[in-house]
Amino acid sequence: NIRKVNENYFGSYSSFGIHREMISDKVRTEAYRDALLKNPSLLSGSVVMDVGCGTGILSLFAAQAGASRVVAVEASEKMAKVATKIAKDNKVFNDNEHNGVLEVANSMVEELEKSIKIQPHSVDVLVSEWMGYCLLYESMLTSVLYARDRWLKPGGAILPDTATMFVAGFGKGATSLPFWEDVYGFDMSSIGKEILEDTARVPIVDVVEERHLVTLPALLQTFDLATMKPDEVDFTATATLEPTGSETEARLCHGVVLWFDTGFTDRFCKENPTVLSTSPYTPPTHWAQTVLTFQEPISVAPASVPLLSGDDDRRGGAIGTKECPASSIHLRVSVARASEHRSIDVS
Ligand code: SAH
Repeated sequence: NIRKVNENYFGSYSSFGIHREMISDKVRTEAYRDALLKNPSLLSGSVVMDVGCGTGILSLFAAQAGASRVVAVEASEKMAKVATKIAKDNKVFNDNEHNGVLEVANSMVEELEKSIKIQPHSVDVLVSEWMGYCLLYESMLTSVLYARDRWLKPGGAILPDTATMFVAGFGKGATSLPFWEDVYGFDMSSIGKEILEDTARVPIVDVVEERHLVTLPALLQTFDLATMKPDEVDFTATATLEPTGSETEARLCHGVVLWFDTGFTDRFCKENPTVLSTSPYTPPTHWAQTVLTFQEPISVAPASVPLLSGDDDRRGGAIGTKECPASSIHLRVSVARASEHRSIDVS
């Protein structure tokens, strides 16, 4: 239930601003470029399908990398026209009159046979940038898996080929509380608290910095895109969050931040495997991170940190309070399709 105004999915992609935002995200675009251009044994002479080509940027990289045929599939009529023009302008377009390598099909990938001639299981490399916020929000993953099962050769490559979700706990600095606590000397913390209450109900997309994390990261779920089934995207996973090691006193954990990495691993990218990371430890991307706030903050401290009160019995008080910080937080995270969107529940 990530909050976002989006009246018409394909209509929204017709706006060039979104394509500019994606292409300007260097972490994203350069990971794909490296995977396509720096693995010549995979790309050279291959048949490539780009699921959801947008401007055609990934297809252009594939053509540049020496693919023998690139099928760029795009559902938005406007973007398919734009991709066609761009392919012509860059002298790689293919149709009856042009003998480049790049064909553009204006079609949902699920209905591709209606627009072009292509044999089932004839594609060597399937590439797509399908990831949504928190990996799965509004993601086109099911369309990519459909294309994999219908068009990819047995043993063919899928780029990226892994996707992994991570989680970590964040402290007060990552919330808007500090901002509202001191506004030109006035206490406006009631606004910060109201925002926190809202984000306890609805996850928000925001950049969280490494210095705001109060726990180590934990792996939540890994998907193998070469083999996974579409229904695997609904899952429940558990994770244990350990406080960051160097702490000398308890810190409040206000909630959890989720992010993902996708891997272009050496399974297919033998010469130059690469990783596209959207973590708080690496430069931010347009996906930022996804933030979920706890109803009440939980106090955490490494087991080595002495208790604040004179009471030496950690089991004496409620765990996770100031007097008795928790030495780890156990999470249960469920991701499920709720009506149009995918919802995340953390307990
Ligand atoms: N590959 C481009 C654009 C990625 S955005 C880039 O990397 O910059 C995803 C694109 O996929 C959008 O243009 C959207 O219209 C298209 N798309 C989404 N689902 C699709 C489907 N099922 N079939 C074809 N295109 C689809």
